[in-house]
Amino acid sequence: MTESELKRHIRGIPDFPKPGILFYDISTLLRNAQAWKAAMAAMAERITPHRPQVLAGIESRGFLLAAPLALELGLGFIMLRKPRKLPGATIGLDYALEYGTDRIEMQADAIAPGQRVVLLDDLLATGGTMAAGVALLRQAGAEVPAAAAMLELTFLGGRRRLDVPVETLLTYD
Ligand code: AMP
Repeated sequence: MTESELKRHIRGIPDFPKPGILFYDISTLLRNAQAWKAAMAAMAERITPHRPQVLAGIESRGFLLAAPLALELGLGFIMLRKPRKLPGATIGLDYALEYGTDRIEMQADAIAPGQRVVLLDDLLATGGTMAAGVALLRQAGAEVPAAAAMLELTFLGGRRRLDVPVETLLTYD
């Protein structure tokens, strides 16, 4: 499936979750087995050269990409979650949003020192979420060779906030 064919399965919903935001909804792509499979195969192709040992996903739509990709590639999967969702010892990182702050957490023992972890989310916008994810994984001892997202809003320049290569499939400018 070409980029434009895949894009036909993604819809933009205006003014969600608040006025002025065009929300890119991947649920219409996930509903279509063929499109989801094609998107996962193309993501796998981009991620494999970075030789990950583990894939990490950012709650919640990042899970929908990272978990099936990890299975497909024969890798483990770990979760970066919203605060107070994970049991046991956790580490976390606060990061700035346009208005206010947010926090992500992971289990403190999720990664062996030096393990190569590629981080996935559904969409790269300003890059704040992904940058926080990379920083948290490093705090946990990971080496992060790359980050990846299915969609990229290029006009927001998110990849400039990241000091790792960023693999994306569908770009919007
Ligand atoms: P950012 O930290 O600005 O790069 O925002 C990325 C995070 O917010 C990702 O987890 C996305 O799922 C979500 N997000 C931001 N903007 C949008 C958008 N226009 N459509 C869908 N999700 C978005």
